[in-house]
Amino acid sequence: MISMYLLNILEDIMFIETLKTLRLYERQSKLGVYHTFKRKNLLYVFRCDCCGVTFLRPRSKVDPERATNDYKHVCSFCDSKRFAQKVGVRMRKIYRTDASSDRPIGSS
Ligand SMILES: [Zn+2]
Repeated sequence: MISMYLLNILEDIMFIETLKTLRLYERQSKLGVYHTFKRKNLLYVFRCDCCGVTFLRPRSKVDPERATNDYKHVCSFCDSKRFAQKVGVRMRKIYRTDASSDRPIGSS
């Protein structure tokens, strides 16, 4: 039973992948010569845990520690505070379910 709940949680948490993009830029110098230069960009791909939309975020804007499935990710269209409350309620429900099957030590 417990493992089923865990599976549900895992499916909801979505850090999908890291995207490497390579962009070619062209810049005209003062002398009128075109220079091309490459710029590497690292993007993190997240699935919004609230509405399910996939969104990108440049690595520079993401705390490296948050680019894991240990964190929830909410897109800019969703209210992350409201989402956190919703998750909080759901987590409490799960913990209550677990607790009912396993009494604390010393209570019996
Ligand atoms: Zn969203």
